Amino acid sequence: MIEEKGILFVLSGPSGVGKGTVRKALFELDTELQYSISMTTRDIRHGETEGVDYFYKTKQEFENLIADEKLLEYAQYVGNYYGTPRDYVEETLEKGKDVFLEIEVQGALQVKKNFPQGVFIFLIPPSLEELKNRIVGRGTETEELVKNRLLEAKKEIDMMDAYDYVVVNDRIESAVEKIQSIVRSEHCKRERVAREYKKALEADLG
Ligand code: 5GP
Repeated sequence: MIEEKGILFVLSGPSGVGKGTVRKALFELDTELQYSISMTTRDIRHGETEGVDYFYKTKQEFENLIADEKLLEYAQYVGNYYGTPRDYVEETLEKGKDVFLEIEVQGALQVKKNFPQGVFIFLIPPSLEELKNRIVGRGTETEELVKNRLLEAKKEIDMMDAYDYVVVNDRIESAVEKIQSIVRSEHCKRERVAREYKKALEADLG
């Protein structure tokens, strides 16, 4: 029996890029990945379910989770706490299953620091891709407008540094497909496959 841990995939990206939509579309197709349901102090929204979309906590409950080191990462976003349950992630990976997080950028950086063996995917808006093409192409817009856009874009591009993959969210289906390809590629990585074979051989050799 080959016992290899699962892979931790982290999807992040700038606010408003559509991470949640892409993640939901991915999970409609993918039955192998395990989505880690986050904890949050924000109010439940219409159409959401406790324990499906989030585990909804009071501020006090959330701060207790922080104090007890029950969170792999957490961040404050628009006045509320969001965090990833540590035990769920560790136990699921231990069972050999892949875990998928969809979190904002501050949290992703914390995971990267504490769990560098994770696979980090940065989702970018098509506007950023278009901007790049336009810059590379030719510049005919006013200097001021271009400068502001460039400064905004620079912030987002600087965030990419911590990531392994960048996916443009031009069409949801195409972004989902790319994420699925990343998952498959990671499972074909030489180090990982070789490690699995070696373990199996060692087990057979006694
Ligand atoms: P929403 O309130 O719209 O569901 O989510 C707001 C933001 O919080 C989104 O960018 C989402 O990716 C992020 N988020 C959701 N869960 C977590 C989490 O566990 N940790 C962090 N750091 N961000 C999260």
